[in-house]
Amino acid sequence: MKLETLVVHSGRRIDQATGAVTPPIHLATTFERAPDGAYPHGYQYARESHPNRSDLETCLSALEGGAEAAAFTSGSAATLALLETLRPGDHVVATDDVFYGTRSLIVDLLGSWGLESTFVAAGDPTEIERALRPTTKLLWIETPSNPLVGIADIAAVAEIAQARGAEVVVDNTWATPIFQRPLTLGADWVLHSTTKYFGGHCDVLGGALVARRESDRGQRLRQIQKSGGAGASPFDSWLVLRGVRSLACRMKTHAENAQRLAEFLAAHPKVVRTYYPGLVDHPNHDIAARQMSGWGGMLSFEVAGGREAAFRIAAATQVFTRATSLGG
Ligand code: PLP
Repeated sequence: MKLETLVVHSGRRIDQATGAVTPPIHLATTFERAPDGAYPHGYQYARESHPNRSDLETCLSALEGGAEAAAFTSGSAATLALLETLRPGDHVVATDDVFYGTRSLIVDLLGSWGLESTFVAAGDPTEIERALRPTTKLLWIETPSNPLVGIADIAAVAEIAQARGAEVVVDNTWATPIFQRPLTLGADWVLHSTTKYFGGHCDVLGGALVARRESDRGQRLRQIQKSGGAGASPFDSWLVLRGVRSLACRMKTHAENAQRLAEFLAAHPKVVRTYYPGLVDHPNHDIAARQMSGWGGMLSFEVAGGREAAFRIAAATQVFTRATSLGG
């Protein structure tokens, strides 16, 4: 099925009790047992799972072409859960322009629990290879990256890392599966801040992990999700899934707009540099062209005059809102 069809239909259920075409939000925290003590509908207690989270996970797994997905209260909660599957002394290699919150979780939070880490340049497979150790369990890449729109060659780095026994995580928040499907390029895990394009309206926080195959780490991740309580709530799951229904249409418009803006900025005399993979002078434009079917909606640029000029220009914009986040 085409992605445009999947975004509309995956995880969709007609409510059996009423025939409603949109799923109800199941606020129940607990589910009835059968006389023999079993749970005939598969749900016990909402911290562990609930119908709205299951619908969302089914959908996200289908969109990324994965075996299973786990939805969380935020992208950072999903990141932390995957890092918590590691043990003291394990090593993570990450690209140096990952979202600053991801770096902080790896270094500041889990560093004190004995997690070791090395940060490397995204576009340089040789540097990645040099950083791998026998204890490296995960290679964490973000492509395109936030905020410098760096591009890493997913297939190439996956081959290098997996040959040395490390699994590869791709933060696919910026591209979304509409433009890039890392699992089909060899990655083991895809991470999303569903707060961004999936939600699409700046009104819900969420995160998700999608796994290429079932594994021990996947089971541990589920255990962390169920026992730790950071799984996405019924209402948040419902909102994210509603956002996904229009994802394909929105991403195409975002990308068309971003390409035109990037070209305008790149030609502007007061702009020093524009970062967008759709510009042919992006250093990894060719790699992006190989692994992405569109360039995405995010760009960044540097203006002449440094910090002061940048703040002045941001303050003078009329359509943009100066606020953190994207995708709404
Ligand atoms: N990954 C990327 C690329 C992000 O941009 C963000 C947030 O800005 C995150 C992860 C973290 O997601 P959240 O804010 O939903 O915790």
